[in-house]
Amino acid sequence: MFIALVNWDKCTGCGDCVDVCPVKCFEMSDGKSLAHRASYCIDCGNCPEVCPDDAIVISIGWGG
Ligand code: SF4
Ligand code: SF4
Repeated sequence: MFIALVNWDKCTGCGDCVDVCPVKCFEMSDGKSLAHRASYCIDCGNCPEVCPDDAIVISIGWGG
């Protein structure tokens, strides 16, 4: 299982990750991207590639 993590110290709120995620992991909250469905991630690679601030990390998550 993959987990999408957003570093709020880096995120500048462009919203691009919301647009490119095929499984809708992200939504905007208070001007930042919140990975509210982080565990839906299928590791497609779109969001780390598109994020201009290098704010997203995909990790191996709970349950392997
Ligand atoms: S890697 Fe793909 S599926 Fe995972 S959060 Fe990013 S855009 Fe969504
Ligand atoms: S693409 Fe990066 S900077 Fe833009 S909203 Fe998503 S996490 Fe924030």
